[in-house]
Amino acid sequence: MKNLLSVQERLRSGKTDLTDIATQYLSNIKNKNSSVNAIVQYDEDSVLKQAAEIQEKISSGKSGALAGAVVGVKDVICEKGKKVTCASHMLHNFESVYDATVIEKLLAEDALLIGRCNMDEFAMGSSTENSIHGPTRNPHNTEHVSGGSSGGSAAAVAANMCDVSLGSDTGGSIRQPASYCGVVGLKPTYSRVSRHGLVAFASSFDCIGPFSKNVTDSALMLQHIAGFDGRDNSSADKPVNDYVVAVQNVDKKLRIGVPEEYFGDGLDDEIRTTIQAQLSDLEKDGAELVPIGLPHTKYGIATYYILATAEASSNLARYDGIRYGHRANFEKIEEELGLEAAAIEQQIKIAVGAEKEEAIERLTKLDTPLIRLYKKSRTEGFGREVKRRILLGTYVLSAGYYDAYYAKAQKVRRLIKQDFEAAFDKVDVIVSPTAPTTAFKLGENQDDPVQMYLNDVYTISANLAGICGISVPAGFHSNGLPVGIQFMGNSFMEENILRAGRRIEMLHSEG
Ligand code: GLN
Repeated sequence: MKNLLSVQERLRSGKTDLTDIATQYLSNIKNKNSSVNAIVQYDEDSVLKQAAEIQEKISSGKSGALAGAVVGVKDVICEKGKKVTCASHMLHNFESVYDATVIEKLLAEDALLIGRCNMDEFAMGSSTENSIHGPTRNPHNTEHVSGGSSGGSAAAVAANMCDVSLGSDTGGSIRQPASYCGVVGLKPTYSRVSRHGLVAFASSFDCIGPFSKNVTDSALMLQHIAGFDGRDNSSADKPVNDYVVAVQNVDKKLRIGVPEEYFGDGLDDEIRTTIQAQLSDLEKDGAELVPIGLPHTKYGIATYYILATAEASSNLARYDGIRYGHRANFEKIEEELGLEAAAIEQQIKIAVGAEKEEAIERLTKLDTPLIRLYKKSRTEGFGREVKRRILLGTYVLSAGYYDAYYAKAQKVRRLIKQDFEAAFDKVDVIVSPTAPTTAFKLGENQDDPVQMYLNDVYTISANLAGICGISVPAGFHSNGLPVGIQFMGNSFMEENILRAGRRIEMLHSEG
């Protein structure tokens, strides 16, 4: 398959031109975006201008390592001068004044950023239906969802609107949409890629990672976005391995752990058969299959939805309509309270200037214009799912329930991590389906949040443990939709999951 390295070769030898490539992608966006809705913002003139500039560098032999790569960016990653909406009414007008570290890194290597990709609001969801821009549809069948929350990034790659894209994975949001859309999606180890400039959802889980059409391109992208960053206080100060070399030298003798907990009830039968067939092919090819147990898997969803919502409720407190985010209409509040805008402004100044404790005391006791303004701004700004998360997160952190929920979930998180540590003593990677089903129909899970959360059953544990994972296309279901296979690897062992993914890809192209 044509990967970016071969495109770069053709660009260097003058067989193709980046302006032509960009024009083709722009025309794909124009033709397909009205039905798929993967890209929420792009500027044709600026894309063509960038393409010409990068092409010049290529022609003069002075281009960076990502010259030729056309990249989509999830609308949760800050790009200077661009709207960063997080698919939320709360940020519908927010324009970033700086580039996220990953964007700086991509630009430094001459990547071409083609547009901003749709997502679930604040990355909360598994279907990209919770978006002010409307849902992203699955390019393989537009009656079905693209997965989420990085559905736009996955669908943009699948629909050939770009070569690669960036998404974020807090609880499966790269791997699950990759699986639904039939592309590769990689969640790096927590702290491997800087979070600076990624709008926070759950800070102890959030990871940025790539989507691509093949494993080599994900390796190439990871190679250039990974690394220490002093602006992210959780960033790992460890050298970045050569992932591209790793996928070019595939070791067939991988030890692959097969956890029984990931093949039980709730898994679509055809998906189970597909994954098992891949495993026996890998075994014939030299891999060793090792049965393993990850006994705390069953607590994963509950643990994640306690911890991630707790962190979200705290992270999203900043959107008060005053310092950040949508501000409700002053005049209506003026009318309701018979107050003038100047009086409300005065209250805001007092609250922002006052000591925190004092301000909270003063404000919570009163039905002040400011409290009304907060309530109205947040009520109008956030969608239903985000409100549900804030309420849940605030509840599990509240004084009476903290020990029963939040503190207990922290302990279970540790047990889940220990399950993986024990497993990785015996194996190089752990295999599973990426999701229990193929992409479901639009609207199917909209009224049943728990059913929606259950989609994350195979992806969420890697986030709880902080380890890396990749979803690679594993063929098609008889319903015509793609099936993904997931490999999880120990912390900072991205080479192993990339190698395993590359083996699957090679088996497919040989078969
Ligand atoms: N489905 C998960 C959630 O809604 C995925 C979140 C994510 O990885 N951003 O929380």
